[in-house]
Amino acid sequence: MLTSGWAQTEGFEMFTETSFNSGNQVASVRSAGTTPLARGREFLSIPGPTNVPEMVLQAMHRPAVDIYAEELLDTIHQLLTDLKAVFRTEGSTYIYIANGHGAWEAALTNTLSRGDRILVLESGRFAKGWGEQGDLLGLTVESIPGDWRGTVDMAAFEARMKADTTHEIKAVLVVQIDTASGVVNDIPAIRAIMDAARHPALFMVDGIASVGCMEFEMDRWSIDVAVTCSQKGLMMTPGLSFLAASPKAKAAHLKAGLRTSYWDWSARDLPESYRKFCGTPPEHMLFGLRASLALLFEEGLEQAWARHRGLAAAVHAAVDVWAQGGAMEFNIVAPALRSPSVTTILTPGFDPQKLRDFARKNCGVVLGSGIGELTGMAFRIAHMGYCNAPMVLGTLGATEIALNALNIPHGSGGVQAAIAALNQHFGPEAAR
Ligand SMILES: *Cc1c(COP(=O)(O)O)cnc(C)c1O
Repeated sequence: MLTSGWAQTEGFEMFTETSFNSGNQVASVRSAGTTPLARGREFLSIPGPTNVPEMVLQAMHRPAVDIYAEELLDTIHQLLTDLKAVFRTEGSTYIYIANGHGAWEAALTNTLSRGDRILVLESGRFAKGWGEQGDLLGLTVESIPGDWRGTVDMAAFEARMKADTTHEIKAVLVVQIDTASGVVNDIPAIRAIMDAARHPALFMVDGIASVGCMEFEMDRWSIDVAVTCSQKGLMMTPGLSFLAASPKAKAAHLKAGLRTSYWDWSARDLPESYRKFCGTPPEHMLFGLRASLALLFEEGLEQAWARHRGLAAAVHAAVDVWAQGGAMEFNIVAPALRSPSVTTILTPGFDPQKLRDFARKNCGVVLGSGIGELTGMAFRIAHMGYCNAPMVLGTLGATEIALNALNIPHGSGGVQAAIAALNQHFGPEAAR
């Protein structure tokens, strides 16, 4: 007998139906060739939340502990230190019981005052959303519109920095990887523009879709406030976000007028653990995070970055081939600007929802949808976090099956090209 859990999972609809039917009906469904092949491990290929390793889930499956238990206090101390290694900073680190939007708000409220001007460098969806938060907080938000198919407008930014001789702009906000468009912005180059203009604005970077997936060097790139969260490159369940603040950001904090008690760094800098969370620590999530960061450090940050590059190359190779059919194309035009953690594919020749539905219902692969301006016009393949070669090949294979089944014109041999890209990644030394 099946449990109700199976029936609730949309991907298993057909399985449930046929299993409860008489033997004859099962046979007729099978002969019609519509039996899904979805049962098995679901391949979550969306850019957050990402796959949570078993070890991390197991680390969370335990009783709650006393909030003063030594193990918990040690874990908190260790995590705050480990997060410095993840952000590559000597600055202060904070853990919020919040998604990424919470860390965004923490960045702004801790450092700025009502009426302060912030400059948002748009590209895709996410920096814009951060700016909208600033608007509600009473900041004066100025934006440099970006191109959905490329990076932030560097020339316009340079001109604006040079023109702001009175230093009206108090903070510059940018996203390293825009998860909607799939672009990578050049954070050190943006910093260099600020430095060349000798502009003192705080430099705030959203590394939510990039930290753990590619180079992120908070101190080397003179980032003042860096934010990320648990459910993307850091392989944890959604619900925690992380922030790191430079000494310059901490100095700005002392004069900030937007401070509120929940986000406030001053309280969180106090030694008591309940202060660090403005109340009860999220114990289980902290144990889970300890396990996920252990996995990341065991692999090595640089190796994790290289893994993301290798897997992205496989996805890009497949999409390059599929695109030859004329029904789809990369959203990000320049190959060098494509993200190592997520690929956004425009679908002028078909309805992307049909592709996603087919892959999910019949192959158990969950592809990402287009969001923001790309809603209904794109799909996304994530290669982010706890992800390896067979997971990427499985996702690409299922996508290719769906393209064939739906008669969507595409170049043939996408998966083959992905395999070739992976072989190239390993190189001849791998066999030694
Ligand atoms: C996912 C994401 C966010 C939002 O994070 P939430 O946890 O959904 O609030 C912000 N920025 C980027 C770049 C993201 O990928």
